Amino acid sequence: MKLKNKIALITGAGSGIGKAIAIEMGREGAHIAINDLTADTAEATAREVEALGREALAIPADVADAAQVDHMVGQTHDRFGRIDILVNNAGVYIPQDGGFTAITDAAWQRILDVNLNGPFYCSRAVVKDMMDRKQGGKIINISSVQAEVAHFDASAYQPSKAAVVMLTRTLAVELAPYKINVNAIGPGAIASEGMGATLGAEIIEAYRKRIPWGARGYTRDIATAAAFLASEDARYITGQIVYVDGGYLSDSTPTELKSQDHPVPPDDPDPK
Ligand code: NAP
Repeated sequence: MKLKNKIALITGAGSGIGKAIAIEMGREGAHIAINDLTADTAEATAREVEALGREALAIPADVADAAQVDHMVGQTHDRFGRIDILVNNAGVYIPQDGGFTAITDAAWQRILDVNLNGPFYCSRAVVKDMMDRKQGGKIINISSVQAEVAHFDASAYQPSKAAVVMLTRTLAVELAPYKINVNAIGPGAIASEGMGATLGAEIIEAYRKRIPWGARGYTRDIATAAAFLASEDARYITGQIVYVDGGYLSDSTPTELKSQDHPVPPDDPDPK
């Protein structure tokens, strides 16, 4: 087990990628504080982690609210005594129908509050104790391929995820003297409950043709990368953005030119 008796706090772990990370880190031996906006979903993930034989604490809180974040980190310390691993996963994607000029102030602000301020508040609340303890630590931010390439309906989401990339590098440099690793994962198209479930069959098929691997990824593909980055196997890796995207960012071939020589590969089974 890569994470035996480590204590991890994972935000947005009531569903999707965050839930998969909680379960994967639980499998690897960690005890988990599970944050989500909704108490019921956080509790449900906690029961799954406990079923693996680990301790779990569900903490409903809004990561966009600094006072709630401080309280959440305090609750985790009260229960487990420390935090070794922080995963800043909670994120929102509000589709921007009508494009850039149609985006409301409220949507812009909410996306930045959750996707950027959230990781800032959580990291600030967690690293003080990590620095004092001098035992190192791991911070993993969940960014997106959309930090690197733009899509037509995500004019607030994309800047928020690009800022998370730079927050990752900034913290990595500042915290390296304390042996705190700070890295990010940039998921490609992942079949998650929330963001993934809203896509129609036609859009999914279009992505299958665009992604060299030929299929969307699964939440466990992100979770296993997170468990690796949280482990001592990744001791010397910091300030990196690991894109888990089936080759999406590496491929500039127009889809129309691919079909002849590059047939779309079949879907993989979900590794769960
Ligand atoms: P998801 O299934 O919608 O899960 C997101 C979770 O975060 C939900 O449980 C949600 O809770 C929670 N959450 C939202 N706002 C929160 C807040 N303010 N405080 C605490 N928890 C909050 O989405 P996902 O696909 O797993 O996405 C997880 C992360 O991966 C996000 O940062 C996303 O941007 C990133 N990502 C996803 C994809 C993809 O293809 N799925 C691609 C690139 C990046 P509620 O359900 O209660 O609102």
